[in-house]
Amino acid sequence: MKKVKQKISRIIIILLLISIISFSIYAEKRIINRKKGRVNPQEAQFYKKLENNGVRCYLCPRKCRIPEGKWGFCRARKNENGILYSMGYQAPCAVHVDPIEKKPFVHFYPGTKALSIASAGCNMRCNFCQNWEISQKRPTETFNYNLTPKNLVNIAISKSIKSVAYTYSEPVNFYEYMIDTAKMSKSAGLKNVVHTNGFINQKPLKKLCNYVDAFCVDLKGFNKKYYRNNTSAELQPVLESLKTMKKKGVWLELVNLVIPTKNDSMEEIKEMCKWIKNNLGKNVPLSFSRFHPTHKLKNLPPTPVKTLEKARNIALKVGLNYVYVGNVPGHEYEDTYCPNCDKKLIDRYGYHIINNKIENGKCKYCGQKIEGVWNEEK
Ligand code: SF4
Repeated sequence: MKKVKQKISRIIIILLLISIISFSIYAEKRIINRKKGRVNPQEAQFYKKLENNGVRCYLCPRKCRIPEGKWGFCRARKNENGILYSMGYQAPCAVHVDPIEKKPFVHFYPGTKALSIASAGCNMRCNFCQNWEISQKRPTETFNYNLTPKNLVNIAISKSIKSVAYTYSEPVNFYEYMIDTAKMSKSAGLKNVVHTNGFINQKPLKKLCNYVDAFCVDLKGFNKKYYRNNTSAELQPVLESLKTMKKKGVWLELVNLVIPTKNDSMEEIKEMCKWIKNNLGKNVPLSFSRFHPTHKLKNLPPTPVKTLEKARNIALKVGLNYVYVGNVPGHEYEDTYCPNCDKKLIDRYGYHIINNKIENGKCKYCGQKIEGVWNEEK
């Protein structure tokens, strides 16, 4: 009798195990399968209702007035029956595990990984966009996963990933998804990093700053006309965002994509560097990134490496401490140097860290404090 009982309980345990495994395979499949046009509309934040079921969105400086049934300029928000919906909520079209260097961050936990997500849409129209296949689309046009903020946090934890990165398209457009995920991942002990164009209104930005550990902002140029003609946006609100991020104490890094004949005037680059030093301080890392022909600017050549080196020299002369040449794997200025003794501290090759000589946030050789958010010492 005892033997029979043991046999039965063994069978029950096996059956239980089988059902748990098949349920998790089923659940995983539901999450992993991408589906064209899958959306989970969520009511948007920062909008007001108008007469005749119209709405006005106050998330970014465009302040779109959106009639019933229509989409905002970013192609990510839609007015349905007088309610504004964030259409990319919980429907990312891109989910990858990337090195943090790919975001690209140079002074934020080097060598760690970031679970990187994006939903379709963008509030700019950059003619040089590298991710136009998703940034210039509606969420109803892309192939999307079905991932709740909790799913994302669980994936990051299960794979021992340090940060969740909101990137690729423009995270402002999936603001609600980003905020909900960032809140949850922050309380789970993960970091949140955002790569953005900085074209967002002050109120939503200040709220976002409460959950974000680091911003990497594309400062696309330093000329109003350039911004208008090449991005369809305005420079001034981006500058205001940078000041707010700094004031809020969030770690900040900048990328300037240098495009031949478009924004490669050394005078303008000098003005930009002066503004950075005066408003954000000399320790904000700045990367001059190489352009490669893409989207609507296929007629232009890649940026000559010499141009990037010249820009870097100007920035150093202005007094910025950490200036990089980006998108040129193997270049000596993708490495980090001590601003005091000039020794090489972080040796990189593309997105890979070969050597890191920063100890307790200081230069190993002369003890100079190196600004950044560094890996915890063991
Ligand atoms: S977030 Fe989109 S809908 Fe809202 S104002 Fe900006 S472009 Fe318009």
